[in-house]
Amino acid sequence: MAGKGRLSPTLVSYMPPDGQMSRYSNRRPDSARGVPILLYHRVSDDPAPGLEHYCVSPANFRRQMAWLQAGGYETILLDTLVDHYTSAAALPARPVVITFDDGYRDNLDNAYPVLESLSLRAIIFLVAGAVGRKAGWDAAFGAPPSLLSWPEIRMMAKGPITFGAHTINHPHLCQITAQDAWNEISGARTILEDGLGHEVSSFAYPYSDFSEEVRGFVARAGYRAACSSIWGLSTSADDVYALRRLIVGGGDSLESFARKVSGTSGTRRTWHPVLSRIKRFITRSQSASTGGSSLV
Ligand SMILES: [Zn+2]
Repeated sequence: MAGKGRLSPTLVSYMPPDGQMSRYSNRRPDSARGVPILLYHRVSDDPAPGLEHYCVSPANFRRQMAWLQAGGYETILLDTLVDHYTSAAALPARPVVITFDDGYRDNLDNAYPVLESLSLRAIIFLVAGAVGRKAGWDAAFGAPPSLLSWPEIRMMAKGPITFGAHTINHPHLCQITAQDAWNEISGARTILEDGLGHEVSSFAYPYSDFSEEVRGFVARAGYRAACSSIWGLSTSADDVYALRRLIVGGGDSLESFARKVSGTSGTRRTWHPVLSRIKRFITRSQSASTGGSSLV
């Protein structure tokens, strides 16, 4: 808890009391609020104009991860959370799931060293057909950034990173044929399992674009769970094929990050400038979750 002393009293107030950090329990860890599943994309000082919302600076990422560690949060695997929801497996007192969509190379350059140094775990959802290439889905915003290569992915898999699937080509799954959607979902699992040499159990919907049919394809393809971008803390009441996440954006201060993780975003005890910013952010996230134009 050495980090607590360097944080403002406001930020410390969001942390759990000392002595509760490593207790495991079969009860839901925070029944009133749920488990934060954080959603990152790029971690870079060089976001494409128009995509700043989807790019967190390396300095802010390090501060956010340090805050989690200082607050006694323990990163858990998505599989562990699903085990908890389906069979009441134990969770730490303060669980958090860290996810990255798309598999940008800057995740290795700027996030991996931080995660490794703080012993935090994360899952990266890869676009199976774009490994080692450029993020063509960002091309409308300038030169597309590089994506992780297979050697990089395999190296990271030996450390604190697990990998999930994010389709083969990053389409809007509700805007292609059912056959193509099935191929994107089931084919991604095959490609990634061949590349990694082990099972891939989780999926994330590009643009959070899914329907009951698409959800069914994910289940039939053998995935155990799927992440959406529907805003909110995750609870056992959630569909495991539509898990809620909290997007962490380029505009997040450490204060707004802390509010998201602690489940106090939007409460009346926030001061007004922060509250209005959070409300705008939630509105944008909700529009993204309903198939809006923003990239997820
Ligand atoms: Zn994506």
